[in-house]
Amino acid sequence: METCKTRGIITRRADYGESNCMLTILTENLGVISACAYGVRSRRSKMKAGTQLLCCGDFVLSRKNSEIYRVDAVEIVDAFYPVCEDIVKLSLANYLCELSREMYGDGDERILTLLLNTLYALAYKDENPVLAKAVFEVKLAQYAGYEPCMDSCIGCGEKEDLSAFDFSGGVKCSSCRESADINISDGVYRSIRYILEAEERKIFSFTVSEEIKKDLSLLAEGYILNKSERTYKSLDYFKKML
Ligand SMILES: [Zn+2]
Repeated sequence: METCKTRGIITRRADYGESNCMLTILTENLGVISACAYGVRSRRSKMKAGTQLLCCGDFVLSRKNSEIYRVDAVEIVDAFYPVCEDIVKLSLANYLCELSREMYGDGDERILTLLLNTLYALAYKDENPVLAKAVFEVKLAQYAGYEPCMDSCIGCGEKEDLSAFDFSGGVKCSSCRESADINISDGVYRSIRYILEAEERKIFSFTVSEEIKKDLSLLAEGYILNKSERTYKSLDYFKKML
């Protein structure tokens, strides 16, 4: 029997058997894991609160000849209740969790921290969901090794006149621009640079106009979808909730 302790956040939760739950946990030390929490749907379970969706905690896990862990105990760090109680924020959180699992690979602690900081901003700072999503998508791309090139045109290296953005890699000058590229305004350009360069705890410390927010959101989403090479049902659901 192998046992371990790790911090993590529950990013997916499904009923399993009569009173159990199957959890997908993004962990600090073990990457993305599946873990069964036995008996937690019964009223008397001591682990009921600690095995809810979005619960971040210190998990004690064990496993025997299996890919799937068993949750033996959990100490709650933060349950992000205000997010769980707001359907728009909760649907966004589901998308952020799905994206994080997809991009987590062998586990990069910065991605876990980014997810927790974003949920914190949504829960306790009342951060705007559309802006929070855009910031998360840009920063996640950077942490996952897909930082967009913002310094010079990805076609010719020109450093001036960077008015277009190509979802495959970054900015372009007007001579290299192709029909699939989108416009990038000064405000959106500066916002992306800020997000890429800011320290983690300051990534939400900027304000933008409604127009820039909308354009930034389009760009960030197009870019991360291009890099992850798939679509997300949770993203479609979030957009319906807006
Ligand atoms: Zn160019």
